Amino acid sequence: MFRIGHGYDVHKLVEGRRLILGGVDIPHTTGLLGHSDADVLLHAIMDSMLGALALGDIGHLFPDNDASFKDADSMKLLEAVCRVIDEKGYRIGNIDATVIAQAPKLAPYIVTMRENIANVCKCDVSQISVKATTEEHLGFTGEKLGISAHSVALMIKK
Ligand code: ZN
Repeated sequence: MFRIGHGYDVHKLVEGRRLILGGVDIPHTTGLLGHSDADVLLHAIMDSMLGALALGDIGHLFPDNDASFKDADSMKLLEAVCRVIDEKGYRIGNIDATVIAQAPKLAPYIVTMRENIANVCKCDVSQISVKATTEEHLGFTGEKLGISAHSVALMIKK
């Protein structure tokens, strides 16, 4: 009836890349490096959804040696994951995700991220929680070398 999943992802911050989190293009001096658009929040969320159904991870679904996923819009990948979940007979109960970034301040973008995710997943925004925190200048996120994200997802059999 219920299945729970966890997802974790990290991307490196570099100059000359856009910073896209939860489908929001955020103005910043550095952006996330990756084969796709490197939306670390959506990647953790997708891994938690797939993990709940023991379907592996997004690297398995969208291999990074596949040129068609180069600079891929992670919102489109999320749409594909939602289709897989639907085909397996499950729907989202709720998702709770945390982005860990020293900078920039993410509070102004959180509502839009939640709305973007809820729209693609065809669920209510109240089912999607996104939080942001720092690691108090400690470690790679604290030194602004990268951004990480955690997510847990509860899936319910339809
Ligand atoms: Zn990723």
